[in-house]
Amino acid sequence: MRQANRTFGALGTSVFETMSRLARQHEAINLGQGFPDDRGAPDVLAKAAEALLTGWNQYPPMLGLPELRQAVARHEQRFYGLAVDWEREVMVTSGATEALTAALLGLIEPGDEVVLFAPAYDAYAPMVRRAGGTPRWVNLYPPDWSLDRRALEAAFSPRTKAVLLNNPLNPAAKVFTAEELALIAELVDGADAYAICDEVYEHLVFDGRRHVPLITLPGMRERCLKIGSAGKTFSLTGWKVGYVTAAPPLLAAVAKAHQFIVFTTPPNLQTAVAYGLGQPDAYFSGLAAEMERRRGKLAEGLAELGIPSLPCQGTYFLNVDRRAMGLGWNDAADDVAFAMRLTAEAGVAAIPLSAFYEEAPDFDHIRFCFAKQDAVLAGAVERLGRKVRGAAAAGERITRPP
Ligand code: PMP
Ligand code: GLN
Repeated sequence: MRQANRTFGALGTSVFETMSRLARQHEAINLGQGFPDDRGAPDVLAKAAEALLTGWNQYPPMLGLPELRQAVARHEQRFYGLAVDWEREVMVTSGATEALTAALLGLIEPGDEVVLFAPAYDAYAPMVRRAGGTPRWVNLYPPDWSLDRRALEAAFSPRTKAVLLNNPLNPAAKVFTAEELALIAELVDGADAYAICDEVYEHLVFDGRRHVPLITLPGMRERCLKIGSAGKTFSLTGWKVGYVTAAPPLLAAVAKAHQFIVFTTPPNLQTAVAYGLGQPDAYFSGLAAEMERRRGKLAEGLAELGIPSLPCQGTYFLNVDRRAMGLGWNDAADDVAFAMRLTAEAGVAAIPLSAFYEEAPDFDHIRFCFAKQDAVLAGAVERLGRKVRGAAAAGERITRPP
């Protein structure tokens, strides 16, 4: 057989799928893959069902239904004060994943470099490479994941075509500071580059924070593509409805790729998301408040077991240093082995953070998803507690601080 494509051929299965499979195999509580276990907003679901039964089920327009594109434009105005021309500046995609793919295929040429921040969502680097680009990594580290000017400057070169920024950042649960965003904007501008902004967690920021899209910073309006996802904003991750907002020439470039990737997105889901984006502010603040409450529930449960977690400013995720879990297991070679053992033996699945780094140092952190029902979170804490107590009784508890 002739060789398949090298970029994809060299890859394994995504860590999210691997850990979810392992969780099923061991009947573990799955705090690995990031998805809420809610049913989703009933009125948004009803809209989709109604549109499916009574609406148009043939190809919708390639850029998306006008009603959804208008709703996205109104959303950008309402939350960020951004004036957007829905006809020339908004496109609907099949999830944020397709938006990212279309952006990279539409903008990147062989030889271009793309600045990526690690930890990075696992789809980024393969898609950069498949588009012909070269990733240039900027590694961020716990506990505060702060961005250093020198490290960022070192990642830029005359070949830099784009920066791919995920803010709020999965899995770090970090919200970039105003200074960090200003620094990124300054370097993007100086390099005459673009910024592909994955902002799927835009409505999942906590403790009174407000999300600031990079596109709203001075000089960034013509350089940024802002990507959102109904999956995250309406707790319906299986829907795969995303949206891109960008200046007309940028959007046009990305639409060229989109037309040959999926062409369109299911129309009934688009109708329902258009309705959802029109919800009153209370829906959006309520979503953040509910996820913040769940974050507290998991963090407190872990703390009662003596397990500290890293600060979490947004997203669905809470990170823990495995060395502080009191489980012993010093023989687990790394965070991957540890997460697998936790799934198999404690019955709780998590994601090892090294999966988000290509040039990983020795990583010791694992990620738990807290976007779950109270009973599920309580069940996970109970299972972890049993293991921790068992380890302590066996004298295995390690005291090395993280
Ligand atoms: N970007 C990030 C940072 C994510 O965590 C995810 C996972 N949901 C996506 C993109 C993909 O979003 P979607 O399901 O809308 O394709
Ligand atoms: N975004 C989700 C996560 O980080 C997973 C999405 C996927 O499974 N590809 O867990």
